[in-house]
Amino acid sequence: MSKLDKQQIANIFEEIALLLEIQGENPFKVRAYRNAARTLLNLDENLVKVIREGRLTDLEGIGKDLAEKIEQLANTGFLEKYEELKKATPPGLLVLLQVHGLGPKKVKLLHDKVGIQSLESLKEACEKNKIATLKGFGEKTQQNILDALAHRSAYQTRHLWWDAMAIASPILEKLRTLKGVKRAEIAGSLRRKLETIGDLDLLAASSNPAPVMEWFTSQPFVVQILAKGDTKSSVLLIHNIQVDLRIVPGQQFDFALNYFTGSKEHNIKLRQNALTKGWTLSEWGMASETGVPGPFDKWKKRVTEEDLYKALGFDFIPPELREDKGELEAAAKKRLPTLVEEENIRGTFHVHTTASDGHNTLEEMAEAAQKFDWEYLGISDHSKASFQANGLTEERLLSQIDQIQKLNQSKKYKLHIFSGLECDILPNGTLDCSDDTLKRLDFVIVSVHSSFNLKEAAMTKRLIRAIEHPSTTMVGHVTGRLLLQREAYEVNLPKIIDACIANGKIIELNAHPKRLDMDWRLWHTAAEKGLMCSINPDAHSIHELKYVRAGINIARKGWLEKKSILNTLPLNEVAKRLKRN
Ligand SMILES: [Zn+2]
Ligand SMILES: [Zn+2]
Repeated sequence: MSKLDKQQIANIFEEIALLLEIQGENPFKVRAYRNAARTLLNLDENLVKVIREGRLTDLEGIGKDLAEKIEQLANTGFLEKYEELKKATPPGLLVLLQVHGLGPKKVKLLHDKVGIQSLESLKEACEKNKIATLKGFGEKTQQNILDALAHRSAYQTRHLWWDAMAIASPILEKLRTLKGVKRAEIAGSLRRKLETIGDLDLLAASSNPAPVMEWFTSQPFVVQILAKGDTKSSVLLIHNIQVDLRIVPGQQFDFALNYFTGSKEHNIKLRQNALTKGWTLSEWGMASETGVPGPFDKWKKRVTEEDLYKALGFDFIPPELREDKGELEAAAKKRLPTLVEEENIRGTFHVHTTASDGHNTLEEMAEAAQKFDWEYLGISDHSKASFQANGLTEERLLSQIDQIQKLNQSKKYKLHIFSGLECDILPNGTLDCSDDTLKRLDFVIVSVHSSFNLKEAAMTKRLIRAIEHPSTTMVGHVTGRLLLQREAYEVNLPKIIDACIANGKIIELNAHPKRLDMDWRLWHTAAEKGLMCSINPDAHSIHELKYVRAGINIARKGWLEKKSILNTLPLNEVAKRLKRN
């Protein structure tokens, strides 16, 4: 067994919590493991160092017993209690727990009375009306389970990019350190940074795959081995995430990486292009079948993805762009955009504090933002209509403006703090704040937080009225969608985009991993028409400032360059731009 990092230990603790629930254990015990898992995930220092300095029990919710377990997992990767729990529970039961409405007690009953161990057998039993007759279930519950299963196929078989990445990264890092593994990369939609991911694809180069596959399938986070072979294995992790690992010989790696990164549509066009030159492109390489010499026939060195694109007459296409949305045509004409990079970001907007529903104070947020080397931070708590989020009365808002002004004058922080507000757009399109108070702010984000079910025309009118308000700087989370959870409200986006351009207003690119709104598919043409975005984390705690990274992914997928992004501007220019509003 190998040593585990904090993410992997957190995963094991979460799994232990689930297993304990199925066994009907004391809820306090279950919660203790969940809390410890969250503490580990939020830990922003090196776990090994904390252990070495004996500071584990200083962490929130970690007592002596859990500290010992963490230490054992960190040092050996093995925990007897966990192994015992796993042995005592059929693996499919963990997956059943993720069906909405099925608690651990019900899962246990389904298993003990009807022998259900998988989603498939659950569906079959419902369809054969076997569940309705079970004590404590009934007709309605059976229908609910069927609905949940159907819903699940649409939503829960996918995962947020952010979550998928958190799971894939430690596996990838370990994979790279294994003996005989020459290279390893993430492939598939995870590499293309799609907002939601189905299966996770990993690719490794090794001439001796068997021990690597052995390692992969015996990881502690594996709930079920779906397939195990020499070139491909698939496992199911907790939270129903499927991970596929493919192993190829070293000289084939970049071709396989290109192939398994996709998208399918991009690959088809790439292959067609190769065919016109007399070459066959596949995950194995680029060969000639027509007698024309292949471009890499005589190469002794490694063929990179850059080489591959170049041989076909294209500039290198970043994985984010490989969606068959004109990237091949642009690459052939050397007209690909210079995509925004993380180091281009100079600050951010849309940050909440404890003044409304944030978890950290203004000063804590400023302190945390400095670690990103940003030049500015835009604070925007909720307005009063968002009473469920402790929205600010104008009196409290005015006192926050004073507080920010004093902080700036004190020069306590290197970064400048902008005073803002996430102002509710009321159902009729007016803003939830007086004009006099709005005028005192550096910026105003206008957002819909209520009456989501207006008809498209009414919703569009509502938003446009808010956009036209002279104090408005930008529109927050413009469609209200929550990925894998809630559909967007009805709104005519082309009209909203035009209204923003006409009024010199910005549409936020909300970087919260659940939102990533406005959708990247619309940004390319919107930016060409002159629309600007601001990549905003919508952070409610210091840990959420890093969501900006997820926003950068989406900006890149939307072909955005620095010039279309407000928060790539240096402080003086951004201040000027905000004044102009
Ligand atoms: Zn909001
Ligand atoms: Zn917000």
